Amino acid sequence: MTVPLDSAAQLSQLLTSGEATAVEVAQEALRRIEASEPAINAFNHVAGEAVIRQAEELDKRRSAGQPLGRLAGIPVAVKDVLCTTEMPTTCASRMLRDYMSPYDATVIAKLRAADALLIGKTNMDEFAMGASTENSACGPTYNPWDRTRTPGGSSGGAAAAVAACDVPLSLGSDTGGSIRQPAAFCGITGMKPTYGRVSRYGLVAFASSLDQIGPMSWDAADNALLMSVIAGHDPRDSTSLPAAVDDYSLAVAQADVRGMRIGVIRDQLENPGLDDDARQAVQAAIDVFRDAGAELIDVRFQYSRYWVPTYYIIAPCEASSNLSRYDGAHYGFRSLGTREVVQKFGPLMAMYCHSRDDGFGPEVKRRIMLGTYALSEGYAAKYYTKALSVRRLIRQDYDDAFAKVDILLGPVTPTPAFRLGEKMDDPLQMYLCDLFTVGANLAGLPALAVPAGKTADALPVGIQLQAAPLHEPALYRAAGAFQQATEHHTRRPPQ
Ligand code: GLN
Repeated sequence: MTVPLDSAAQLSQLLTSGEATAVEVAQEALRRIEASEPAINAFNHVAGEAVIRQAEELDKRRSAGQPLGRLAGIPVAVKDVLCTTEMPTTCASRMLRDYMSPYDATVIAKLRAADALLIGKTNMDEFAMGASTENSACGPTYNPWDRTRTPGGSSGGAAAAVAACDVPLSLGSDTGGSIRQPAAFCGITGMKPTYGRVSRYGLVAFASSLDQIGPMSWDAADNALLMSVIAGHDPRDSTSLPAAVDDYSLAVAQADVRGMRIGVIRDQLENPGLDDDARQAVQAAIDVFRDAGAELIDVRFQYSRYWVPTYYIIAPCEASSNLSRYDGAHYGFRSLGTREVVQKFGPLMAMYCHSRDDGFGPEVKRRIMLGTYALSEGYAAKYYTKALSVRRLIRQDYDDAFAKVDILLGPVTPTPAFRLGEKMDDPLQMYLCDLFTVGANLAGLPALAVPAGKTADALPVGIQLQAAPLHEPALYRAAGAFQQATEHHTRRPPQ
């Protein structure tokens, strides 16, 4: 029997009917990962034997008739920025090489409680800074659709692991687009939840006012399933929202956009940076939604040209503060420095400086310097405080839009997956990958990337749906309707 590693729903069915055991599923996932890793490099760590033992345990509990969790026997891969006690947490950084967390992130605890098989930690841009998974101390991840191209980033490994059909579900994190952009590049579905909907406890912090964890999968139904498991209030995260969790799976199943007002973000479609294939995908989606009974309304943002500049002030400022904890004393990596430096600055300062210089990669250092500059005496008012004011205007744009429409439709990325190496010498070009995604983070609202077509080169293209805070059900309802009417989410890369 073939084990469908591209569908959590189908796996669940086979497991409950007894047609497959959890051990068989775990073995098949490990086999599949072993076969695809040399070409894809999606994983920084694979759990191996531990997963088989966990699966045996599950099978025993199932045959004893004990109740099992919602993800019983489903392999899930998690981005290497989430703290796990049984696997290293490296953030793809030399700074955290071999680091073992003493506690599990809340989302990991929830996965365990749901009886998911935690199969491994996925590759990423170092500390989640990047859009191509090339800023990784573990080497780049390759796009399963075309191995000369990047899977996107920073959750590139999590997206590629799903796209390579290694696992049906993965968790990424999204500070400025890191779930949605790799989802779009890999032809899968990725949700950035409302800020505060999913606990950030145990997520290694990049920019705390923007970071969210979210699910990645082939289709909206699987996505909603994982979302239902991870969402909810957590007293350990002070920004966590107390609101009750909606039934996301029901929303996907409803698949109903009749009467829904969908705002088409015109200024994004007219942006000269937007590639033709990506524009066509949105245009085709407009027709799909109209045919399904939605009302399409044009919307314009006044401040969209400030999204990227605002993000690239606020995110580095928060990063420079969050990353000050890596000093060679608290965590694994330590470098004592050359004799010359020790003589000049003393042993303690030499350790701090050298540990940070040798432990961090170039992009992380760039962000720390940008953030430190923008926060420094005399500049903070000009940069950081100013960015905070603009952030409020950006949120106002969204509020104005949501007074008229229920959800927003637009592109995820300006272009499809670009070639490895193409943007590595030009940080500004890399930052422009975030042109359409950072708005949702700055405004704190939910946004979903959905597969929506292919380019002439057979590369995936996505569309992005956004809603007001806590309106994830509207996004899932629309994605359900879209996926009922289209087949983009059913396409798999050639093996
Ligand atoms: N590409 C963006 C950045 O480098 C987004 C990263 C993210 O969402 N983690 O900051």
